[in-house]
Amino acid sequence: MTRYDYIIVGGGISGLSVAYNLKKKQKNFILLEKSNRLGGVIQSEKIDGFQIEKGANTVLIRNQETFLIFKDIGILEKLKLPNSSAKKRYILNNQKLIPLPTGPFSTFFHPITPLSRLIKWSFKDYFSQPIQADVTIKNFFTNRFDFFFYENLIFPMVSGIYAGNPDIMSLEYNFPKIFQYVKEYGSIIKGFQKSPRNHIPDEAKPYWNKMFSFDDGLETIIQHLEINLKGLIQKNQSVKQIEPYEGYWKVFTENQILETYQLILSVPAPTTALFLKGIEDELSQQLIGIQYVPLIVLHFTFPTAIWKRPLNGFGFLRSEKENTSILGCIFNSRIFDHVAPKGYELITVMIGGATQPDLVNEKIEKLVYKIQKEIKIILNLQKKPDLLHSQKWEMAIPEYTMLHHNLEKSLLKFYKRFSNIKILSNFWGGIGVPDCIQKGLSV
Ligand SMILES: Cc1cc2nc3c(=O)[nH]c(=O)nc-3n(C[C@H](O)[C@H](O)[C@H](O)COP(=O)(O)OP(=O)(O)OC[C@H]3O[C@@H](n4cnc5c(N)ncnc54)[C@H](O)[C@@H]3O)c2cc1C
Repeated sequence: MTRYDYIIVGGGISGLSVAYNLKKKQKNFILLEKSNRLGGVIQSEKIDGFQIEKGANTVLIRNQETFLIFKDIGILEKLKLPNSSAKKRYILNNQKLIPLPTGPFSTFFHPITPLSRLIKWSFKDYFSQPIQADVTIKNFFTNRFDFFFYENLIFPMVSGIYAGNPDIMSLEYNFPKIFQYVKEYGSIIKGFQKSPRNHIPDEAKPYWNKMFSFDDGLETIIQHLEINLKGLIQKNQSVKQIEPYEGYWKVFTENQILETYQLILSVPAPTTALFLKGIEDELSQQLIGIQYVPLIVLHFTFPTAIWKRPLNGFGFLRSEKENTSILGCIFNSRIFDHVAPKGYELITVMIGGATQPDLVNEKIEKLVYKIQKEIKIILNLQKKPDLLHSQKWEMAIPEYTMLHHNLEKSLLKFYKRFSNIKILSNFWGGIGVPDCIQKGLSV
């Protein structure tokens, strides 16, 4: 039986980041991936000259680990930074796109954030008492500021970015910094003033807090990691079962049994739950309880000439009261020039999520027709956009709800019992690609 010091199960960005870290530390390990490709939900493809992302769209360099790994695998110089106008974002309200403020001056005169409201909100925040326990995102922002703040600023962001339902999502697990500020100082403003700033290395400054992509899409990260980890990965190896055995773990795939001192699980929650059934039933039950929101990602194209007044910016999110099937829309070809042929536009529309999960079960032709009509009106196009590609994610993004408190307790109990196993996936400790990289490099 082959024995390794470490076995990593799952070749998404979480598992690959751990593998990269272990290789740097010259550890003896193997990564087992179920499918014939790496990258999990990071999937890029070029279709008819358009560069699309079926899963993750853009990545922000917002921690040192992400910067360092990119530098090390030689992809920093390949980064495509966005056009400067991509900072602009819109909120869909009454079928109209309202630009969000981009600087202090525009903020004061904006219909959503006029100076009078900003003063009221700042006053309420500054003189609030510290909160003792976690609350839902909706509860927190409605009580701290008001329903208007929640409806127009928080709901669009949470439903657009996390595709989640702020009514059940936890403040502590989704916005850990804000939770820490209000717990320690009572106020977000005070917390921001008092907490130390992140140290940004000089060489990372040009890239810091910028979203980016690559000529061949985000899969470039995966391809370079795969080259870096040559010989240390086995594809088409679906792990079926794990078993603790005299201080080791036995790992069973369809055609082999392996042994390891340290096991790292980087697979989705239902699979992790299955592995732990009969080993740690309480944790297994908590993992089954994690809800993943379903999503449909539609890519549309159209000639720039049919866009009467082309808009620059990242895209739009919808306000809570907006009656639309669209969760959010990204103006890909306005952010990055390289994603569409000259004279054409590429946009990505997200549908479903926690607030409209049933839409994902509608007939795709019917849904596409409905969205084409909506987009034509919202963007003021002369004709309907053409569908380039559709991607259905039955389990797109895990929701960090108030139930994560029980999960945390079960995880701690589990780690007390087994010190030689680690669960590192996007359902715990951060969903974004940079979060997954940071966790992987901190093992
Ligand atoms: C539509 C969508 C849009 C997103 N947009 C963004 C974005 O713009 N920016 C951002 O930062 N993040 C975004 N995210 C989130 C981010 O992409 C994910 O959270 C992250 O990529 C998850 O990586 P992971 O490795 O934890 O999981 P996964 O990518 O799910 O990888 C898990 C891997 O485990 C393998 N596996 C499963 N079972 C087994 C088994 N039994 N044996 C062996 N291997 C197994 C799978 O095949 C897969 O390769 C988005 C996600 C989605 C779905």
